[in-house]
Amino acid sequence: MISKEDWVGRRLLSNRFRDRRVFIAGDAAHLWVPYAGYGMNAGIADAINLSWLLAACVQGWADERILDAYEAERQPITEQVSHFAMDHAQKMIRARRAVPADIEAPGAEGDALRAEIGREAYELNVQQFCCGGLNFGYFYTGSPIIATDGEEPPTYSMGSFTPSTVPGCRAPHFWLADGRSLYDAFGPGYTLLRFDRQTDVSTLVQAAKSCGMPLALVDVDAAEIPPAYRHRLVLCRADQHVAWRGDRLPEDLGDLVARLRGQAVRETATA
Ligand SMILES: Cc1cc2nc3c(=O)[nH]c(=O)nc-3n(C[C@H](O)[C@H](O)[C@H](O)COP(=O)(O)OP(=O)(O)OC[C@H]3O[C@@H](n4cnc5c(N)ncnc54)[C@H](O)[C@@H]3O)c2cc1C
Repeated sequence: MISKEDWVGRRLLSNRFRDRRVFIAGDAAHLWVPYAGYGMNAGIADAINLSWLLAACVQGWADERILDAYEAERQPITEQVSHFAMDHAQKMIRARRAVPADIEAPGAEGDALRAEIGREAYELNVQQFCCGGLNFGYFYTGSPIIATDGEEPPTYSMGSFTPSTVPGCRAPHFWLADGRSLYDAFGPGYTLLRFDRQTDVSTLVQAAKSCGMPLALVDVDAAEIPPAYRHRLVLCRADQHVAWRGDRLPEDLGDLVARLRGQAVRETATA
């Protein structure tokens, strides 16, 4: 044995990810049984989430209350992941203990048994090692800086998800005509995807300019656009989640801009 590392299999989650000027992320905020890389993935997702919110404050275009979105968005997701990981660990433990004595039996009966054990192991491990749902399917619908529109996001499992542009979901990926990934066209703050050049977005562009809010306008030119994009306008955040969508800008643009800048966040004890 060259080296060893001790760890304790447990599920621990902090209710608070922030206390005034202190934020916690990664294992300091959430711990679960290490399966399939959810631990580091979730920590990196925390850091991405927090970093663009902090940048918004430091750059001065957002209200400090925008920082409350960090806990509102990440705490429920990591709690959910912690349950996924723990349930999965328990299923794995049960599966390991349930290897039947006649697993090596010759003949049709043994073949059927092995096929069944194989099928169960496959289903369990695809969830673990191919966790597209957990990595790409989660959404921030309870967030104070996302403009929801009444449509519920599609449910997801560890292994699968339905790409969606419901505000709060991760903007589904596609390739642009110039060969770039959609995400490479995103700006450092918000990015407005416009699927129809006739749709007037000048008031939002102007509003963003006047308050210093970074807004990149991308006129989408792509051979194949995922069917999830059903609206002419989809506003995405730096962390690739959808903040708002519609066929035209809202009548009252002030409400939307205030929400995007964190000004609609209710005062909390930590703010
Ligand atoms: C057996 C095992 C296997 C795993 N496998 C995977 C995997 O395959 N994929 C995956 O994504 N995740 C995996 N994880 C989870 C992953 O390792 C953690 O989620 C990740 O390392 C957490 O990163 P972190 O930076 O939040 O915390 P940590 O990695 O714990 O980093 C915290 C750092 O802070 C330091 N520190 C603590 N107190 C102080 C202090 N007072 N002053 C200064 N420094 C301090 C610590 O020494 C440490 O270096 C696994 C975990 C275990 C235990």
